[in-house]
Amino acid sequence: MAKKHYIIPVFVPHKGCPFDCVFCNQKKITGRTKEITAEEVDEQIQEYLSTIGNLNGKHVEIAFFGGSFTGIEKMKQEELLRIAYKWKKRGKIKDIRLSTRPDYIDESIMKFLIDYGVSIIELGVQSMDHEVLIKSGRGHTAEDVVAAVKIMKQYPVEIGLQMMIGLPGDTIEIANGTAEKIIDLSPSFVRIYPTLVVKDTYLEKMYLQGNYNSLSIEEAVVISKGLLLKFLKSEIPVIRVGLQPTENILLGKEVIAGPFHPSFRQLVESKIFKGMLDYALSRQDIKNHSFIEIQVNDRYLSSLVGHKKENINFIKNKYSIKKIKIIRNNDLKDTCIKIIKSGEETFVLNMKEYANNAI
Ligand code: SF4
Repeated sequence: MAKKHYIIPVFVPHKGCPFDCVFCNQKKITGRTKEITAEEVDEQIQEYLSTIGNLNGKHVEIAFFGGSFTGIEKMKQEELLRIAYKWKKRGKIKDIRLSTRPDYIDESIMKFLIDYGVSIIELGVQSMDHEVLIKSGRGHTAEDVVAAVKIMKQYPVEIGLQMMIGLPGDTIEIANGTAEKIIDLSPSFVRIYPTLVVKDTYLEKMYLQGNYNSLSIEEAVVISKGLLLKFLKSEIPVIRVGLQPTENILLGKEVIAGPFHPSFRQLVESKIFKGMLDYALSRQDIKNHSFIEIQVNDRYLSSLVGHKKENINFIKNKYSIKKIKIIRNNDLKDTCIKIIKSGEETFVLNMKEYANNAI
């Protein structure tokens, strides 16, 4: 059985960051403005570990989120990492994760991080397109990403690359191009974040002045669907699609526009299942069949059915099927669907096969 995974999140706002990424307001995103101290981190870790109890068979990691970790003062980095490393050396936690900018990685930084037991590093790539990076005020280039990954690959770390969709100047084609360049770098995993317009950011000004149009949820879902399938085809896990909803990041509170949805990933997966159903049925002599049965693993039941039965109604209408019965079958691999017509199995399809064939 897979080990249970626990993440102890430590938010490190990047105070005094010299960059002006149009979408960023660190204080809003992390929900805190005060600088975090080593004592607070230590307490936080102790408290979290006490809630987990027996650590046997559990995979615990400390994750420094919220800023460009290697861009903060070196003394602060050391102060925080020393605490995390203490717990790692005691065998209480397995991994230390942090995120940073591509231009804040070099040989000496990597040696320093490895000395403190850092095992997972995520880079905020955001886009691999020159114009998008400029328009978004990122202050680094796509070449910086390639150079950083090259250096990181010489060290025993997992590499995560984060990309954003819907940044100023971004399009579906450009987003696909970014994904392809990320795939070429073969990271251990990726995250996909749709751009949100957060209060007190430059993007908010652009939006209010009519110089930026945010993606609609539907557009963001369609783009993310293609990206998810691309990464799946390349066997690169996508560990997050959409922003973690925190109390501050609720539409109308801190997010003033953009494709925010608390279950964004599920919307994307549901769109993929719709495509899978269509793909599977289009290869069958199914038209005007009065009754079919579709089996799916419990985990993906609601994604298969879709919001307000959208997916089921779509295939019912398109293929003139009178009745569709959905059956839970937990013997099926998670993203697999099985279609049964007249009591006979006619088609089994999983998401990976669909990704391989449909894109
Ligand atoms: S997203 Fe940009 S502006 Fe915000 S902390 Fe990171 S580098 Fe600085």
